[in-house]
Amino acid sequence: MIQSTAIHRRRQVLVVEDQELNRDILGMILEEYYDVLYAENGAEGVACMREHRETLSIVLLDLMMPVMNGFEVLELVREDEELRHIPIIVLTAEKKAELKALQLGAADFITKPFDMHEIILARVGRIIELSEGRRLISAAERDPLTGLYNRGFFFEYADQIRRYHHDLRMDAVVMNIERFHSVNDFNGREFGDRILRRLGDEIRDCLSGTEGIACRAEADQFFLFCQCTDYRAMLDRFQQSVNELSKRVAIRLRMGVCFGTGDRTPGMLFDRARTACNMVRGSYKGHLMIYDEEMHKRELYSQRLLNDLGQAIEERQFTVYYQPKYDIQCHPPRLNSAEALVRWKHPELGMVSPGDFIPLFEKNGLIHVVDNYVWGEAAAQIAEWRSKYDFTLPLSVNLSRMEVFDPALEKTLLRLLERYKISSKDFKLEVTESAYTDDADQLVSVIGQLREYGFEIEMDDFGSGYSSLNTISSLPIDVLKMDMKFIQNVEEDSKNFRLIELILDIAGYLGVPVVAEGVETAKQMELLQNAGCEYVQGYYFSRPLPAEEFEKLIIKEIEAAKERKS
Ligand code: C2E
Ligand code: MG
Ligand code: MG
Repeated sequence: MIQSTAIHRRRQVLVVEDQELNRDILGMILEEYYDVLYAENGAEGVACMREHRETLSIVLLDLMMPVMNGFEVLELVREDEELRHIPIIVLTAEKKAELKALQLGAADFITKPFDMHEIILARVGRIIELSEGRRLISAAERDPLTGLYNRGFFFEYADQIRRYHHDLRMDAVVMNIERFHSVNDFNGREFGDRILRRLGDEIRDCLSGTEGIACRAEADQFFLFCQCTDYRAMLDRFQQSVNELSKRVAIRLRMGVCFGTGDRTPGMLFDRARTACNMVRGSYKGHLMIYDEEMHKRELYSQRLLNDLGQAIEERQFTVYYQPKYDIQCHPPRLNSAEALVRWKHPELGMVSPGDFIPLFEKNGLIHVVDNYVWGEAAAQIAEWRSKYDFTLPLSVNLSRMEVFDPALEKTLLRLLERYKISSKDFKLEVTESAYTDDADQLVSVIGQLREYGFEIEMDDFGSGYSSLNTISSLPIDVLKMDMKFIQNVEEDSKNFRLIELILDIAGYLGVPVVAEGVETAKQMELLQNAGCEYVQGYYFSRPLPAEEFEKLIIKEIEAAKERKS
């Protein structure tokens, strides 16, 4: 469609030439094929270009002219957003001038005195074709919603800037909207689109007249490749503009910046800027994050852990530690069960904390590798202690939230029970409270199934999530594990004690016992005992221990039981 109208329309050509004779000759050659406009000097030429900027296909420009010469016209057009798309062929008698004209952006040149007509027509035709071809591409290089570049072209241009303008140190900026999907969900797509368009306009405005370029990389993600001395001010400006548009809805922007260095490609810079931007998530310190070396080191460290996981499993670098849970309503307290907690003894990095690798593996979907290992070790441990001491110590293992959605979970667990001949009631499963808020329906049904097989479910970190009383009462759980922050602040502040009592009340209402985690002192222990809390897990009794050391607690327990009997 586009092509056929283009073929039938006569293109418009502007000839800017002060010599009448030359104008006549060019007119004679061109008028058979084109609509020709004429201007007698540079200033007139520019005025004519402006007037016909939508329809002009090409300009033939003489260099030596009164009022405004051809070079001045080229310079002016190059700086003019509205005119620079129009290709210009310069008319020149001087070899030296050609180079300068080309450097100033001329598309081609025609030498004077004029060549054969066919050559002139061929040159004009070719440049028009080229420039129209380019403009067709340029429609594809834009994101239709915001008019910014799309991702592919953006990176191509960013690369060009880096390659050809070594003197420009461009920074990478990634900006997006916090929880954009809920902005869309609650206010409609149309509203979301309006916000994105506004941001597009504001970004274009901000970069106009600079070397900077920008694109909408995906949904609400904007990339800017630019130089700016104050990114805080830039973010404030964008935020303010969005605020004007959304008076009723709080919309928060966040921005990550990685400063340009000569040796990093735009791809590398934007990866880092994105990392910085992601760090803003949930940070109350501010919505701007500058990528720094600390972040870089952390990222390399994470990458290393991800790379080393396979070998670590093969070489059995993971070990399981056990931390006892004591029944504190007995006098003296009795060993009731233990939690299996993984430890990574890395041959080069030393002891790696689960806080470093568990969330990382969860994010990368690899946690099941570690957990399957831990579950296997824990199940084997129950069997080993049973045969060694004729004593069955129930163990609990941690389940990550995605595991709950693994269709093979049930089978994996049942296979372990069978292999080690252990009962499901001795193999407890800890699920963190926040998992329950993700997709409660699915979770409730999976957990309901597991409970039918006799597994007991402990809700871990209770009180750290956002479950409402309403949802809790409908959740299938057997034990509440109270988050350690409640007990750890209890001595300073009696309000926290009220909270503990409240949790105990909730558990009483649900008919399930409470395990208090993170109990470190005798005073905390006593408080809980008096308040009626059933179980305690914490340094007060013991830190997590390797199996050999944990055995001492088992032996002690067996002896105490014998004493009680006698
Ligand atoms: P969690 O399941 O809530 O485990 C309790 C954490 O509290 C453990 O940290 C334990 O060492 C620590 N802790 C216990 N008593 C005290 C105390 O009195 N004071 C203090 N300050 N801390 C205490 P750890 O072993 O570093 O584990 C951290 C988290 O990593 C665990 O929290 C759990 O969410 C996760 N995790 C540990 N092992 C595994 C595993 O095998 N699989 C999965 N998916 N997650 C695991
Ligand atoms: Mg746990
Ligand atoms: Mg816990």
